[in-house]
Amino acid sequence: MYIFKKPQPLGKAKKRSKENLRLLNMLNRYITDTATVPVSILTRFWADQAAAITYKEIRKLIEDEDISKEDLENWSKDYSSFVSETLEPMWLEAIVAGQLSNAILDEIRGKEFEFDATDEGIRNWIKDRGSEFVTNAVQEQKKAIQRLTMKAVREELSPNELARVIRPCIGLTERQAQANLKYYSHIKEQLRKDHPRMKEENIVRRARDRALKYAEKQHRYRAETIAQTELAEAYNAGAHQGIKQAQERGYIGHVKKVWVTARQDNVCKYCEAVEGVSKEMDEYFDVGKCGRVLIPPAHPRCRCVVKYVEVEE
Ligand SMILES: [Zn+2]
Repeated sequence: MYIFKKPQPLGKAKKRSKENLRLLNMLNRYITDTATVPVSILTRFWADQAAAITYKEIRKLIEDEDISKEDLENWSKDYSSFVSETLEPMWLEAIVAGQLSNAILDEIRGKEFEFDATDEGIRNWIKDRGSEFVTNAVQEQKKAIQRLTMKAVREELSPNELARVIRPCIGLTERQAQANLKYYSHIKEQLRKDHPRMKEENIVRRARDRALKYAEKQHRYRAETIAQTELAEAYNAGAHQGIKQAQERGYIGHVKKVWVTARQDNVCKYCEAVEGVSKEMDEYFDVGKCGRVLIPPAHPRCRCVVKYVEVEE
Protein backbone atom coordinates (compact mmCIF):
# COMPACT_ATOMS: atom_id res chain seq x y z
CA MET A 1 0.00 0.00 0.00
CA TYR A 2 1.59 3.23 -1.04
CA ILE A 3 -0.24 5.52 1.28
CA PHE A 4 2.17 7.81 2.97
CA LYS A 5 1.60 10.08 5.90
CA LYS A 6 2.66 13.67 5.91
CA PRO A 7 5.58 14.31 8.27
CA GLN A 8 4.24 14.84 11.75
CA PRO A 9 5.23 17.89 13.76
CA LEU A 10 8.19 17.04 15.96
CA GLY A 11 6.28 17.37 19.21
CA LYS A 12 3.79 14.70 18.20
CA ALA A 13 6.33 12.36 16.69
CA LYS A 14 6.80 9.19 18.66
CA LYS A 15 10.30 8.67 19.88
CA ARG A 16 11.96 5.48 18.76
CA SER A 17 13.90 3.78 21.51
CA LYS A 18 17.61 3.22 21.00
CA GLU A 19 17.07 -0.49 20.44
CA ASN A 20 14.29 0.14 17.90
CA LEU A 21 16.48 2.59 16.01
CA ARG A 22 19.33 0.11 16.02
CA LEU A 23 17.11 -2.58 14.52
CA LEU A 24 15.66 -0.25 11.88
CA ASN A 25 19.07 1.11 10.90
CA MET A 26 20.51 -2.39 10.57
CA LEU A 27 17.83 -3.42 8.09
CA ASN A 28 18.07 -0.14 6.20
CA ARG A 29 21.81 -0.32 5.91
CA TYR A 30 21.64 -3.93 4.85
CA ILE A 31 19.18 -3.16 2.05
CA THR A 32 21.11 -0.10 0.86
CA ASP A 33 24.37 -2.04 0.76
CA THR A 34 22.95 -5.11 -0.94
CA ALA A 35 20.20 -4.07 -3.37
CA THR A 36 22.37 -2.66 -6.17
CA VAL A 37 23.48 -5.99 -7.60
CA PRO A 38 20.06 -7.66 -7.84
CA VAL A 39 18.63 -4.43 -9.31
CA SER A 40 21.08 -4.46 -12.19
CA ILE A 41 20.68 -8.21 -12.72
CA LEU A 42 16.91 -7.82 -12.91
CA THR A 43 16.94 -4.93 -15.36
CA ARG A 44 19.34 -6.86 -17.58
CA PHE A 45 17.15 -9.96 -17.20
CA TRP A 46 14.07 -8.16 -18.56
CA ALA A 47 16.05 -6.62 -21.40
CA ASP A 48 17.19 -10.13 -22.38
CA GLN A 49 13.64 -11.42 -22.18
CA ALA A 50 12.40 -8.62 -24.41
CA ALA A 51 15.21 -9.27 -26.85
CA ALA A 52 14.41 -12.97 -26.98
CA ILE A 53 10.90 -12.40 -28.30
CA THR A 54 10.61 -11.30 -31.93
CA TYR A 55 8.12 -8.80 -33.35
CA LYS A 56 6.77 -11.66 -35.39
CA GLU A 57 6.06 -13.61 -32.22
CA ILE A 58 4.41 -10.62 -30.62
CA ARG A 59 2.25 -10.07 -33.69
CA LYS A 60 1.17 -13.69 -33.49
CA LEU A 61 0.31 -13.22 -29.85
CA ILE A 62 -1.84 -10.23 -30.80
CA GLU A 63 -3.63 -12.20 -33.52
CA ASP A 64 -4.28 -15.16 -31.23
CA GLU A 65 -5.29 -12.73 -28.49
CA ASP A 66 -3.47 -14.93 -26.04
CA ILE A 67 -0.01 -15.77 -24.82
CA SER A 68 1.19 -19.12 -26.07
CA LYS A 69 1.93 -21.98 -23.71
CA GLU A 70 5.45 -21.89 -25.04
CA ASP A 71 5.97 -18.26 -24.04
CA LEU A 72 4.65 -18.98 -20.58
CA GLU A 73 6.93 -21.97 -20.22
CA ASN A 74 9.91 -19.96 -21.37
CA TRP A 75 9.17 -17.17 -18.91
CA SER A 76 8.73 -19.72 -16.19
CA LYS A 77 12.14 -21.20 -16.98
CA ASP A 78 13.72 -17.72 -17.09
CA TYR A 79 12.31 -16.76 -13.72
CA SER A 80 13.27 -20.11 -12.20
CA SER A 81 16.88 -19.61 -13.16
CA PHE A 82 16.73 -16.07 -11.85
CA VAL A 83 15.48 -17.45 -8.55
CA SER A 84 18.14 -20.14 -8.25
CA GLU A 85 21.03 -18.02 -9.50
CA THR A 86 20.27 -14.67 -7.92
CA LEU A 87 17.49 -14.74 -5.35
CA GLU A 88 18.33 -17.92 -3.46
CA PRO A 89 21.92 -16.93 -2.57
CA MET A 90 20.70 -13.39 -1.84
CA TRP A 91 17.92 -14.67 0.43
CA LEU A 92 20.28 -16.96 2.28
CA GLU A 93 22.74 -14.15 3.00
CA ALA A 94 19.91 -11.89 4.15
CA ILE A 95 18.58 -14.64 6.43
CA VAL A 96 21.98 -14.96 8.08
CA ALA A 97 22.27 -11.17 8.41
CA GLY A 98 18.75 -10.95 9.83
CA GLN A 99 19.32 -13.43 12.64
CA LEU A 100 22.43 -11.46 13.67
CA SER A 101 20.17 -8.51 14.50
CA ASN A 102 18.60 -10.37 17.46
CA ALA A 103 20.03 -8.74 20.57
CA ILE A 104 18.62 -11.46 22.86
CA LEU A 105 20.84 -14.03 21.15
CA ASP A 106 24.02 -11.95 21.52
CA GLU A 107 25.03 -13.53 24.82
CA ILE A 108 24.77 -17.10 23.59
CA ARG A 109 25.79 -16.60 19.97
CA GLY A 110 29.03 -18.31 19.05
CA LYS A 111 29.13 -20.05 22.44
CA GLU A 112 26.30 -22.52 23.01
CA PHE A 113 24.22 -21.28 20.11
CA GLU A 114 25.18 -21.48 16.47
CA PHE A 115 22.65 -20.43 13.85
CA ASP A 116 21.98 -23.21 11.37
CA ALA A 117 21.34 -21.77 7.90
CA THR A 118 20.74 -25.25 6.48
CA ASP A 119 17.88 -25.91 8.91
CA GLU A 120 14.69 -27.40 7.45
CA GLY A 121 12.63 -24.30 8.28
CA ILE A 122 14.97 -22.16 6.22
CA ARG A 123 15.21 -24.60 3.33
CA ASN A 124 11.40 -24.70 3.16
CA TRP A 125 11.12 -20.94 3.36
CA ILE A 126 13.47 -20.51 0.42
CA LYS A 127 11.74 -23.22 -1.60
CA ASP A 128 8.23 -21.83 -1.02
CA ARG A 129 9.23 -18.25 -1.63
CA GLY A 130 11.01 -19.26 -4.83
CA SER A 131 8.07 -21.04 -6.39
CA GLU A 132 5.70 -18.29 -5.28
CA PHE A 133 8.00 -15.74 -6.91
CA VAL A 134 8.07 -17.60 -10.23
CA THR A 135 4.30 -18.10 -10.32
CA ASN A 136 3.56 -14.47 -9.48
CA ALA A 137 6.10 -13.06 -11.90
CA VAL A 138 4.80 -15.13 -14.82
CA GLN A 139 1.17 -14.32 -13.97
CA GLU A 140 1.90 -10.60 -13.74
CA GLN A 141 3.75 -10.67 -17.04
CA LYS A 142 0.87 -12.49 -18.69
CA LYS A 143 -1.71 -10.05 -17.33
CA ALA A 144 0.39 -7.05 -18.38
CA ILE A 145 0.62 -8.20 -21.98
CA GLN A 146 -3.00 -9.29 -22.19
CA ARG A 147 -4.04 -5.89 -20.88
CA LEU A 148 -1.87 -4.08 -23.44
CA THR A 149 -3.24 -6.18 -26.28
CA MET A 150 -6.84 -5.55 -25.24
CA LYS A 151 -6.35 -1.82 -24.80
CA ALA A 152 -4.41 -1.38 -27.99
CA VAL A 153 -6.97 -3.28 -30.03
CA ARG A 154 -9.60 -0.92 -28.67
CA GLU A 155 -7.46 2.07 -29.59
CA GLU A 156 -7.01 0.59 -33.05
CA LEU A 157 -3.26 0.37 -33.14
CA SER A 158 -1.98 -1.77 -35.99
CA PRO A 159 -0.39 -5.09 -34.92
CA ASN A 160 2.90 -3.72 -36.13
CA GLU A 161 2.73 -0.60 -34.01
CA LEU A 162 1.41 -2.54 -31.06
CA ALA A 163 4.21 -5.10 -31.24
CA ARG A 164 6.73 -2.30 -30.90
CA VAL A 165 4.88 -0.86 -27.92
CA ILE A 166 4.57 -4.21 -26.18
CA ARG A 167 8.16 -5.38 -26.42
CA PRO A 168 9.75 -2.78 -24.10
CA CYS A 169 6.95 -3.43 -21.61
CA ILE A 170 8.01 -7.02 -20.99
CA GLY A 171 8.84 -7.24 -17.29
CA LEU A 172 6.55 -4.43 -16.24
CA THR A 173 3.57 -5.00 -13.96
CA GLU A 174 0.07 -4.79 -15.40
CA ARG A 175 -0.36 -1.31 -13.95
CA GLN A 176 2.99 -0.10 -15.21
CA ALA A 177 2.35 -1.48 -18.69
CA GLN A 178 -0.99 0.28 -18.79
CA ALA A 179 0.63 3.53 -17.70
CA ASN A 180 3.23 3.11 -20.42
CA LEU A 181 0.64 2.68 -23.17
CA LYS A 182 -1.32 5.63 -21.84
CA TYR A 183 1.83 7.74 -21.92
CA TYR A 184 2.58 6.63 -25.48
CA SER A 185 -0.91 7.58 -26.68
CA HIS A 186 -0.69 10.87 -24.85
CA ILE A 187 2.62 11.78 -26.51
CA LYS A 188 1.21 10.99 -29.94
CA GLU A 189 -1.84 13.13 -29.30
CA GLN A 190 0.30 15.98 -28.03
CA LEU A 191 2.63 15.84 -31.06
CA ARG A 192 -0.29 15.87 -33.48
CA LYS A 193 -1.70 18.91 -31.76
CA ASP A 194 1.58 20.81 -31.48
CA HIS A 195 2.90 19.88 -34.93
CA PRO A 196 -0.07 19.50 -37.28
CA ARG A 197 2.21 19.05 -40.28
CA MET A 198 4.42 16.39 -38.78
CA LYS A 199 4.29 13.08 -40.63
CA GLU A 200 2.47 10.28 -38.81
CA GLU A 201 5.47 7.96 -39.00
CA ASN A 202 7.62 10.57 -37.28
CA ILE A 203 5.01 11.08 -34.63
CA VAL A 204 4.90 7.35 -33.97
CA ARG A 205 8.68 7.09 -33.87
CA ARG A 206 9.06 9.96 -31.45
CA ALA A 207 6.33 8.70 -29.17
CA ARG A 208 7.94 5.28 -29.21
CA ASP A 209 11.31 6.70 -28.18
CA ARG A 210 9.72 8.53 -25.29
CA ALA A 211 7.75 5.46 -24.17
CA LEU A 212 10.93 3.41 -24.35
CA LYS A 213 12.73 5.80 -22.01
CA TYR A 214 9.77 5.72 -19.68
CA ALA A 215 9.79 1.91 -19.72
CA GLU A 216 13.45 1.94 -18.67
CA LYS A 217 12.57 4.03 -15.64
CA GLN A 218 9.65 1.77 -14.83
CA HIS A 219 11.85 -1.32 -15.06
CA ARG A 220 14.31 0.24 -12.71
CA TYR A 221 11.64 1.17 -10.22
CA ARG A 222 10.17 -2.32 -10.28
CA ALA A 223 13.60 -3.94 -9.93
CA GLU A 224 14.24 -1.76 -6.87
CA THR A 225 10.89 -2.69 -5.39
CA ILE A 226 11.53 -6.39 -5.89
CA ALA A 227 15.12 -6.30 -4.59
CA GLN A 228 14.24 -4.24 -1.50
CA THR A 229 11.18 -6.29 -0.67
CA GLU A 230 12.86 -9.66 -1.16
CA LEU A 231 15.79 -8.56 0.98
CA ALA A 232 13.45 -7.35 3.73
CA GLU A 233 11.45 -10.59 3.56
CA ALA A 234 14.50 -12.81 3.95
CA TYR A 235 16.13 -10.60 6.58
CA ASN A 236 13.03 -10.61 8.77
CA ALA A 237 12.53 -14.33 8.20
CA GLY A 238 16.13 -14.88 9.34
CA ALA A 239 15.54 -12.94 12.56
CA HIS A 240 12.41 -15.02 13.20
CA GLN A 241 14.11 -18.33 12.44
CA GLY A 242 17.04 -17.42 14.67
CA ILE A 243 14.72 -17.00 17.65
CA LYS A 244 12.86 -20.22 16.83
CA GLN A 245 16.07 -22.21 16.59
CA ALA A 246 17.30 -20.90 19.92
CA GLN A 247 13.92 -21.71 21.49
CA GLU A 248 13.80 -25.22 20.05
CA ARG A 249 17.19 -25.93 21.54
CA GLY A 250 16.12 -24.54 24.88
CA TYR A 251 18.46 -21.53 25.04
CA ILE A 252 15.71 -18.97 25.44
CA GLY A 253 12.23 -19.09 26.93
CA HIS A 254 8.92 -17.47 26.10
CA VAL A 255 9.47 -14.74 23.51
CA LYS A 256 7.08 -12.11 22.18
CA LYS A 257 7.53 -10.09 19.02
CA VAL A 258 6.84 -6.35 18.87
CA TRP A 259 6.20 -4.47 15.61
CA VAL A 260 8.57 -1.57 15.00
CA THR A 261 7.82 0.83 12.14
CA ALA A 262 10.42 2.72 10.19
CA ARG A 263 10.84 6.48 10.55
CA GLN A 264 7.42 7.97 11.02
CA ASP A 265 7.58 10.37 8.07
CA ASN A 266 7.06 7.75 5.36
CA VAL A 267 5.36 4.85 7.02
CA CYS A 268 2.08 3.64 5.57
CA LYS A 269 -0.87 4.20 7.89
CA TYR A 270 -1.59 0.48 8.19
CA CYS A 271 1.91 -0.22 9.47
CA GLU A 272 1.78 2.81 11.75
CA ALA A 273 -1.38 1.34 13.29
CA VAL A 274 0.50 -1.78 14.48
CA GLU A 275 3.50 0.11 15.87
CA GLY A 276 4.31 -1.33 19.28
CA VAL A 277 1.77 -4.16 18.99
CA SER A 278 3.02 -7.30 20.69
CA LYS A 279 2.24 -10.86 19.55
CA GLU A 280 3.18 -14.45 20.28
CA MET A 281 5.77 -15.96 17.90
CA ASP A 282 3.21 -17.75 15.70
CA GLU A 283 0.47 -15.13 15.91
CA TYR A 284 -0.38 -12.87 12.97
CA PHE A 285 -0.28 -9.10 12.93
CA ASP A 286 -3.37 -7.56 11.40
CA VAL A 287 -1.97 -4.84 9.13
CA GLY A 288 -5.24 -3.42 7.72
CA LYS A 289 -5.36 -3.42 3.96
CA CYS A 290 -1.82 -4.85 3.81
CA GLY A 291 -3.22 -8.11 5.14
CA ARG A 292 -2.25 -10.44 7.96
CA VAL A 293 1.43 -11.22 8.34
CA LEU A 294 3.60 -13.14 10.78
CA ILE A 295 6.44 -10.68 10.39
CA PRO A 296 7.25 -7.61 8.22
CA PRO A 297 7.39 -6.55 5.44
CA ALA A 298 3.66 -5.95 5.22
CA HIS A 299 3.82 -4.56 1.68
CA PRO A 300 6.35 -3.80 -1.08
CA ARG A 301 9.13 -1.47 0.08
CA CYS A 302 8.06 -1.80 3.73
CA ARG A 303 11.02 -1.21 6.08
CA CYS A 304 9.41 -2.31 9.31
CA VAL A 305 11.04 -4.84 11.64
CA VAL A 306 10.04 -6.72 14.77
CA LYS A 307 11.81 -6.72 18.08
CA TYR A 308 11.93 -10.02 19.99
CA VAL A 309 11.55 -9.73 23.73
CA GLU A 310 12.04 -12.59 26.17
CA VAL A 311 9.16 -12.39 28.62
CA GLU A 312 10.00 -15.53 30.59
CA GLU A 313 13.34 -17.26 31.00
ZN1 LIG B 1 5.76 -1.24 7.03
